[in-house]
Amino acid sequence: MEANSDIKTTPKGFHCCLCRVNLPNVPSLDQHVKGRKHQTLSTVRATRKTQEERSVFVSGIKPDISQTDVTEYFQRFGPIADVIMDKDKGVYAIVQFSETDSIQAALSCVEHQMKGLKLRVKAREKKEFKLIPKKKNDPQNLQQVFDHLKPQLCHLLSVDAQIHYVVERCQLGENEKKARGLLVQLLQEVFVEFFPDSQILPFGSSVNTFGIHSCDIDLFLDLENTKVFQARAKSTAEQAVEGMSDDGHSEDSILSDIDLSTASPAEVLDLVAAILRRCVPSVHKVHVVNSARLPVVKFHHRELNLQGDITINNRLAVRNTRFLQLCSGIDDRLRPLVYTIRYWAKQKQLAGNPSGAGPLLNNYALTLLIIFFLQNCDPPVLPTVDQLKDMACEEEECVIEGWNCTFPSQPIAVPPSKNTQSLSTLLAGFFTFYAKFDFAGSVISVREGHALPITDFLSQNKEEEAMQEEQPTKTPSPKLGPLNLLDPFELSHNVAGNLNERSQRSFQRECQELDKYCRSLQYQRKSTKGKSWGLVRMFTPHGEVPHTKPERLTVSIPFKSASLPEGLRSELHMAGDSFRLLWFQRVCSAVEVVFQSVLRCPLVPFTDAVFGKDSAVNAAEEMESPSTSLNTSTNDSCGSVESQNEASPPGTAVVGAKRPLSSGSDASVSPQGKKPRLAKGGRPEVPPWICVLKHMVWAGRRKVRRELIKDTDSRPEGSCMELEAQVTARIVEKEPELKEPLEFKVQPQMMGGTESTRTVLKLEPTCDTTGVFHDFFHFLEAFLPKMVETLLEKEIGCN
Ligand code: ATP
Ligand code: MG
Repeated sequence: MEANSDIKTTPKGFHCCLCRVNLPNVPSLDQHVKGRKHQTLSTVRATRKTQEERSVFVSGIKPDISQTDVTEYFQRFGPIADVIMDKDKGVYAIVQFSETDSIQAALSCVEHQMKGLKLRVKAREKKEFKLIPKKKNDPQNLQQVFDHLKPQLCHLLSVDAQIHYVVERCQLGENEKKARGLLVQLLQEVFVEFFPDSQILPFGSSVNTFGIHSCDIDLFLDLENTKVFQARAKSTAEQAVEGMSDDGHSEDSILSDIDLSTASPAEVLDLVAAILRRCVPSVHKVHVVNSARLPVVKFHHRELNLQGDITINNRLAVRNTRFLQLCSGIDDRLRPLVYTIRYWAKQKQLAGNPSGAGPLLNNYALTLLIIFFLQNCDPPVLPTVDQLKDMACEEEECVIEGWNCTFPSQPIAVPPSKNTQSLSTLLAGFFTFYAKFDFAGSVISVREGHALPITDFLSQNKEEEAMQEEQPTKTPSPKLGPLNLLDPFELSHNVAGNLNERSQRSFQRECQELDKYCRSLQYQRKSTKGKSWGLVRMFTPHGEVPHTKPERLTVSIPFKSASLPEGLRSELHMAGDSFRLLWFQRVCSAVEVVFQSVLRCPLVPFTDAVFGKDSAVNAAEEMESPSTSLNTSTNDSCGSVESQNEASPPGTAVVGAKRPLSSGSDASVSPQGKKPRLAKGGRPEVPPWICVLKHMVWAGRRKVRRELIKDTDSRPEGSCMELEAQVTARIVEKEPELKEPLEFKVQPQMMGGTESTRTVLKLEPTCDTTGVFHDFFHFLEAFLPKMVETLLEKEIGCN
C-alpha cells in the first residue's frame, strides 16, 4: 500500500486520522482506504482545499446587499465560481473565484468600495479538515455522559435524591425552553405569510414537561382555518375583486398554487419544506418523510442544534400532549419517574429508535406504560382516562376524529391521590409490575386503567373480517403484537405496534432483573466504600463493556420439516445422512435470493471485498442501475434458486452457482460458490458475504405494503416474494439514500443436532456510520426466516 499521511501506526494496528477509526491489520486498513467513507472524505477535503485557495473572505457588507451585487463587484478581478452570503446576519460573504490567480488581484487592491460601503477583503483562513462525529444516540457519547453522572449520583444520600438529581441534569433549561418558544414564534410568523390564519402548535417532549436537553421539537401546522380562508377567498374571487381578497390578503401567494381542500398531504408537505428551506434562517437539512405513520417534514436548526418535525395532520398528538401535561400536574411524582425510567431505557437500549422508525419502544409509549402502572398502584397514584373524562366540565368536552378526548384542563379539578409511597418505592414497583405482567394475554388500556383480555380483541378481529363487506367504514381494531398498549384516545391504535418479540422480551427481562435488584441492599443503601449503588447500578450498561468490538448478532432459521413442500421433503429423505447439509445449502441459496432480489442488498464474497477484487459498493451501484436492477418477479427469484440448484445437484456441496459479480441482468452474485467448510467445533459453514445496503428498506415497509395491496392496479399477481420485492423497489424509488451505505458481514453456519437443526446467520456491521444496523437487524430477525420459508415452499413450483 502506498504511503498515506492520514494513517498512523499504533500499538494495536493502525489509526486513520481522517475518518477517526482504528484498524487492526493491513487487510482491514486496505479495505478501509478503498472504502466509500475514506474515499468520500478525501474528495471532500480536496475540494474544500481548492475552494479555500480560490476564495476570499469579505466583511463590511450590509444585509440589503445581494449575492448579485457582490458577484458584479468582484468579477472585475476574475471569473466567479460562487458567492456564499451569510444568510442569517448578512454581514459577510465568501467569494470563490474560478482561478487561483484572481485572489492576488482581489487582495492587492488597496480599497474596495461597493454601493457606498467600504469592504474588507482577506485571504481565507486555512482550517484543518476534521470529521465531526455525530453525537445523537452515539453509545460512546451516552457512556461519557453516564461516566460523568456516576460519581455524583454515588455521593448522594438516597435513591429519591438520585432521582431528583437525574431530573435536574436532564431536563430542558429555561433558556432552552425560551429558545424553542422563539423558534415556534418565528415559524408562526413565516407560515402565516404563506398560509393565512394557520397556526403552529408545539407538542411532544418540548412541551409535555418531560423534555431533555437534546430532545427534538415536534410541531403541528394547523391549516384548518387556512382552508376556510381559502374557500372564502375562492367565492369572493368569483365576485371579481381582482388581485385582492376581501381580507386584503394578496392572492399572489403560495396558496394560489394549491387547493388545500383537495391537495394530498405529500403536496402540502412539499410546500412546507420549500418555505422552510427558503425563508427560515438557520434551518437546513430539510426533507419530507412520506413513509412515516404520519408524513412529516424534518429539519435541523443550526444555531439551536435542534432537530424539528412538522406534521399537518396531528391534532390527536397535540391533545395527548395536553393529557401528559395534565398527568404531570396531577401528581408530581410522575415527572421524576418518567425521567428516571426514560434514562434507564435509553441506557439499556430498550427505547428510542435512532432513525425514527424501529422495533424499540418510543418515549410516548414508555410514558404511557408508567402512567398505566401508576393507575394500578394501591391506592392509585393517577386516575384512569375514563375517570378524568367524568371530572371535566361541559366546556372541556373535546372530540377529535371521532375519539373522545375530554379531560379537565387543570389538575386542580382532580382530587389528590391517597397513595403516599416514595419515589424509590414506586420505581421499584414499576419493575415488579412489568416483570410479572402477562404481555401475551393482555391489552393495556390507560383509558380504563386495567388490562383487557387479548381474546376480546382476537374475536373482534375475526368478527371484523366477517363484517368487512357489510360495514367497510367500521373502526378497525388495533394491530396486535408482542406488546399491546392502546392509545388513551385513539382506541384503535396500538402505540407499541412497532415492537418486535425481541424488544418486548428484552424489556420484560430487564424489568425482571431490576425487580430482583430493587429487593437487594445495594438498591436502597449507600455504599460506604464508594461502590455503585441505587440508580447507578440500574443505569450501568451490561458488563460495562466499552463498545470497541463490533457487535455480532444472529438470525436463526430452524429446520421445520412440516412446512417444506412434498418434493423437497422427499429429496431430503433420499439424501439420507446428509439431509441436513442439503437443507443448509437450500437455505443459504434462499437467503442469498432474499438479500439480493427482495431487499436489493448486493453481496460479494468477503474475501473479494477485503482484497479488492470487487467492491461491495460497486455491486450496490450495479444493482441500482436500471440494466441490472432486478425486475423482482417471483419467477426471477425462483429461477435464481432453481438455476443454482441445477448447478448444484443434491449431495454436492455447492450453495449457489459461482458467477462473476458483473453478470449483467443476472444479479445472482453467488459468493457461496464454495463447499461448506468445517468451522471450529465441526460445524459446517460457508464463506461469508459482505453486503451493502444503500436505503432503509425496512423503514415504513408496512405502510408501503398496505398501499401496494390497496392499489389494485399495481397489485402484484404473484407470491408474497413478488410483493416484498415491489415494496423494496418503491422504498428505493421514493426515499433518499442513506448518507453512507450500511456495510455488514453475513456468515451462515449450520448448527444443532438432528432434532434441532438450524441455520444461523451471524451478522456483523463493518461500516455503520449512520447507526442503522440495529434497526435493520431487528427487521431481518423476523423477515428473513419468513421469506426463506416462503422461498423453500415455492421451490417446488419452480422445479
Ligand atoms: P422524544 O422526542 O424526547 O423522544 P416525545 O414525547 O416528543 O419524546 P416523539 O416520538 O417525538 O416523542 O413523539 C412526539 C409526540 O407524538 C408524542 O409526545 C405523542 O404526542 C405523539 N406520538 C408519538 N408516537 C406516537 C404513537 N405511537 N401514537 C400516538 N402518538 C404518538
Ligand atoms: Mg419529540
